[in-house]
Amino acid sequence: MTKIVVKFGGSNLRSNEEIHRIVQVVKNYDQPLIVVVSAFYGVTNFLVDALEKARHDEGVAEKSMQYLYNLKIDSLNYFIQDTELLSNTVKLIRDLLDELKNYLVGIALTGDASKALEDHVLSYGERLSAIFLNGILNAQNLESKVAFPETIGLITDGEFGNASADFHLSTNKVRESLNEEVIFVVPGFYGISQDQKTTLFGRGGSDYAAAALARCVGASSLDIWKDVNGFLSSDPKLVSNPVLIEKLSYNEAAELAYFGAKILHPRTVEPLTDPHIAVRIFNIYGTLDVTKPLTIISREKSVLTGVVKSVTYSDNFGLLKLKGPGVGLKPGILAKVTTALHLAGINISSVLTSQISINILLAKKDLQNAFAVVSAIELSAVGKLQIEDDIAIVAAVGHGITDNFGIAARIFTALATDSINVVMSCSGASPIVSYYLVKLSDRTAAVKAIHREFFEK
Ligand code: ASP
Ligand code: MG
Repeated sequence: MTKIVVKFGGSNLRSNEEIHRIVQVVKNYDQPLIVVVSAFYGVTNFLVDALEKARHDEGVAEKSMQYLYNLKIDSLNYFIQDTELLSNTVKLIRDLLDELKNYLVGIALTGDASKALEDHVLSYGERLSAIFLNGILNAQNLESKVAFPETIGLITDGEFGNASADFHLSTNKVRESLNEEVIFVVPGFYGISQDQKTTLFGRGGSDYAAAALARCVGASSLDIWKDVNGFLSSDPKLVSNPVLIEKLSYNEAAELAYFGAKILHPRTVEPLTDPHIAVRIFNIYGTLDVTKPLTIISREKSVLTGVVKSVTYSDNFGLLKLKGPGVGLKPGILAKVTTALHLAGINISSVLTSQISINILLAKKDLQNAFAVVSAIELSAVGKLQIEDDIAIVAAVGHGITDNFGIAARIFTALATDSINVVMSCSGASPIVSYYLVKLSDRTAAVKAIHREFFEK
């Protein structure tokens, strides 16, 4: 039977009410599944913090272990009545926590952690959730078992903190390992390098892990359960009447996620595009009918009458500006700068240049480091290096954006009507996105203005 890969996020595992709903969802599928789980809400951040503190505080290991143990023990007692199953599950959790404690103690003793160890420690959130959920499913007489990525052979390219799955090496073993007609519960967020090291798929990477598994087993769909109403025409916290987007193409979903939509990890669709596996988004607080997804992401490309499908934003980008009277015509500047940034492990999101200014769009968190890296290069044509971090990106996404006249005019007019200045803009980098840099303080108004123009008229 073709499997469905079902992913539950950490925010789906917060309360007993939500866990009840997850159990109901799993029952509603009424078929073998591969269930992928994230860490409990906040646990990855907790581990990031513990990792940092452990370097100079030995007590952190014990305290962290206690905290994580207490976090969900009441839920286990509540959901698992069978005393043997309960004690087995608690034992598995304790074993995991003992391992974690040993790693943290090791870090405290040496005052340091390798990248490999960091990735390994951060994967414990997902490992704990998997054991936890598996115990609860078993208590409901559902036939399930935990399958760890290292056991089933989910092999990665080995890049710590930002790995990609290697499908060439993974597909056969993963498929064989998950071939039984039961429910497998797999911890998300990581795969394993060829030399058996835990490698994370990047923050929020459980979606990607689930997608990678879906590809390996040739799943009929990847179902992602969230605590929000699918993809909307904009963030419901900013606009009052967002419209549900029932269908998105892979590229639209990827661009929306890249430009800030928090619903999906931007890399989720990568493994699924080629084999044409659809992503179906559900809300755990909505109908638990597994045949009624809110949003379906597939290869189908549709152009709406209004062209724009969604308006998204991100506050996480900033600009590094290289100014000088002739930077546009002088060869080699970008080569030097991009090489240096690459060597420093800094990703470039976009570059917009003119004769007197080169503007490099980067993650805000990388700006200071990038400034230092670029300052250290010999660049005679650059008179001034400047950081601009008081900005936000607002992006309109939809097939047809760059093929139809008048879209940018409508966006600029909507912004101008509300007296919002566009600091910089870019269309055509991808055929489905048009994005605008505005002052951070104008971000909300800009999203509202563009949304009003396309969805509220
Ligand atoms: N727990 C990981 C994180 O917080 C992965 C995920 O949630 O998808 O980044
Ligand atoms: Mg997540």
